[in-house]
Amino acid sequence: MSETKTALVTGANKGIGHAIAAGLGALGYRVGVGARDRSRRETAVEKLRAAGVDAFGVPLDVTDEESVTTAATLINRLDVLVNNAGISGPFGPGWVQDPTTLDLDVVRTVVETNVIGVIRVTNTMLPLLRQSPSPRIVNISSSVASVTRQADPDIAIGPIMAAYSPSKSFLNAVTVQYARQFAGTKILINAACPGLVATDFTGFTGRTPEEGAATAIRLATLPDDGPTGGFFEDAGVIPW
Ligand code: NAP
Repeated sequence: MSETKTALVTGANKGIGHAIAAGLGALGYRVGVGARDRSRRETAVEKLRAAGVDAFGVPLDVTDEESVTTAATLINRLDVLVNNAGISGPFGPGWVQDPTTLDLDVVRTVVETNVIGVIRVTNTMLPLLRQSPSPRIVNISSSVASVTRQADPDIAIGPIMAAYSPSKSFLNAVTVQYARQFAGTKILINAACPGLVATDFTGFTGRTPEEGAATAIRLATLPDDGPTGGFFEDAGVIPW
């Protein structure tokens, strides 16, 4: 890169977010490690620096207005925002998020992080992103957000997750609204599914975080004529 670009990854202290931060760092980006816990954040920054990444810590809880506002003041340039921080809400082996018995507080908490948190962070970081020559926003979604797939009994697999899946469908829908609003600007925004990835989130079932990070990294580094308002996995476009 002729001039060093800066990326911010939310929830970058572990899992897929950490792998995205490492991947962008390896491509020469300066990387802000957004993380809410000080010790986990500092450990992640140290790990990235040890791997040669120009990383810096950004205290960031996506559900906390003041935390997000303060985070923006710690960043003086922003080219890439990866909204990765997310939660599933409770579920477990043999225990689904049954829509007929769902705790409404679970729905609120999941939407607060997975959707409202993304809108909060995006809008707070927008003034910085607008100054970039090629701003990119990647929202980490999930293939379980695909209403088309969820509605097809031959395709829908895994547990029923009546809080988590719709929260990511909501995130996808919001992503499209941003893309409409950004039409005619340099900002490209897309949603990415990492696939099933072995992290805390899945009880460490699935492929590696590095493999899960690949689509997000591709979307974070799109050329100016790249797609916007799309929903992608490794194999290509995911149906809404
Ligand atoms: P993970 O290992 O549990 O990591 C989640 C990250 O989000 C952690 O860094 C966590 O921070 C952070 N986070 C949660 N709430 C936050 C908040 N309020 N403010 C700031 N950070 C917060 O899970 P993962 O598998 O890497 O998941 C990353 C993203 O991928 C999520 O959006 C998830 O929905 C999506 N995804 C994952 C899979 C999969 O198979 N793993 C599949 C599809 C989509 P703490 O350490 O402080 O909790």
